Amino acid sequence: MPQVVDRLAIAAAKLSAKAIRVAGLGMGSNLPGKVARKLSPSVLNKLAAQSRLGVIAVSGTNGKSTTSGFLASILSKAGYRVVHNRQGANLVTGITATLIDEASWTGTLDTDYCLFEIDEASLPVVASEIKIGNIIVTNLFRDQLDRFGELDTTARLINKGIAINNSEAVLNADDPNVASLAPESKHLYYGIESLAASSTNQAGLLAELSYCNKCGKEYSYDLIFYGQLGHYTCSSCQNKRPTPDVSAHNVDVRSSGSSFQIKFGNVASDIRLNLPGLFNVYNALAAAAIAFQMDIAAETIREGLNKYSTLFGRSEKLVIEGKPILIQLIKNPAGASQVVASVAGDPNAKILIAINDNLADGRDISWLWDAEFEQLSTARENVIVSGQRAEDMAVRMKYAGLPPEQIQVVTPLEKALKQALDTTDDQQTLWILPTYTCLLELQKILKSMGYSLSGT
Ligand SMILES: [Zn+2]
Repeated sequence: MPQVVDRLAIAAAKLSAKAIRVAGLGMGSNLPGKVARKLSPSVLNKLAAQSRLGVIAVSGTNGKSTTSGFLASILSKAGYRVVHNRQGANLVTGITATLIDEASWTGTLDTDYCLFEIDEASLPVVASEIKIGNIIVTNLFRDQLDRFGELDTTARLINKGIAINNSEAVLNADDPNVASLAPESKHLYYGIESLAASSTNQAGLLAELSYCNKCGKEYSYDLIFYGQLGHYTCSSCQNKRPTPDVSAHNVDVRSSGSSFQIKFGNVASDIRLNLPGLFNVYNALAAAAIAFQMDIAAETIREGLNKYSTLFGRSEKLVIEGKPILIQLIKNPAGASQVVASVAGDPNAKILIAINDNLADGRDISWLWDAEFEQLSTARENVIVSGQRAEDMAVRMKYAGLPPEQIQVVTPLEKALKQALDTTDDQQTLWILPTYTCLLELQKILKSMGYSLSGT
């Protein structure tokens, strides 16, 4: 009586998920999946097989959450129902838990697509249990500590994951580590064709050496975007960047967002993203590639990408340990001044400001001096400053008129968050003002605590 077993497994998992939520343990994304898989090892297969149009996976080093977020947004705009592991539970147990959460108590799953971001090492495991139609690979970066050939191991795992179901590989043509994957499979390539004149000064930053996967010689680049991503050719064999099926043209990258044109055959769409950074152009492009191939209208793709990036840029509210938290991205003087004005208007505000100066934040942090932090000079509580540029922010707050003894420098963001939470009482609101990459880091920290932000 396999169905009875599945119902039992699903009920047990749903109840354990509920118990974890009620107890406020907040670390529950894997446990319900573990419970269900123990009771019914085929539960993942049985649930995923109910998706009417198939399963899509997103893997790679960076950008999995954003790429699947973009794609979920496009698919919803196109009128499809999508189940998506948006809490970032990207191991097999977390994916199982996501499906159980969406399924009815009798184990029925009503969805057109299942969309999963999957950890690279878990891809073959998931692929051996469910049929994955398309696998998007975002990029494969060498870890700074990659002395043991982990990149090759990761590439092998992804290749294996693609081969199991003979999935279509949706690959970043500009990343030689990705474009060379799954040579035997069906391919759809995406890549950046050209940058706008105003953005060419961004190109080539953080460039990394890369070697031909066929003959081992160093690639030469006509154009390099960042890391090993660009237009490469091997000077000794015929190996080179494949021509993308879906391409971005005239990419204009600014700290507030970017604009570009996406082309697929004869179809073109002008895209505006409210997210900074070339890497987000790649994330959008990867999602658009698969959407174009599904014949989703260019206008729907444009709207889906725009909507998701706008949502992400807005403020986020959540409650942790009974304390309300408000997160507001800050990225330029005008926007930051507005955010600071709202903080100043809250007499019960506890404040954490986190500043990084990575490429996506803008390398130049002089804008902090143009934002009106003076509005916080009469803050009653201590202000915690964090991030790579915590010291600079401390100086900025001092010149804004806040007494030095009220400024606390806690550079590691996780530590700063803990300290801020510990000193916030339940009558107060904790305002967190991060720059973009601090927000990404914050997401990861919150995820590890069992909380998720809506844009992720
Ligand atoms: Zn070569």
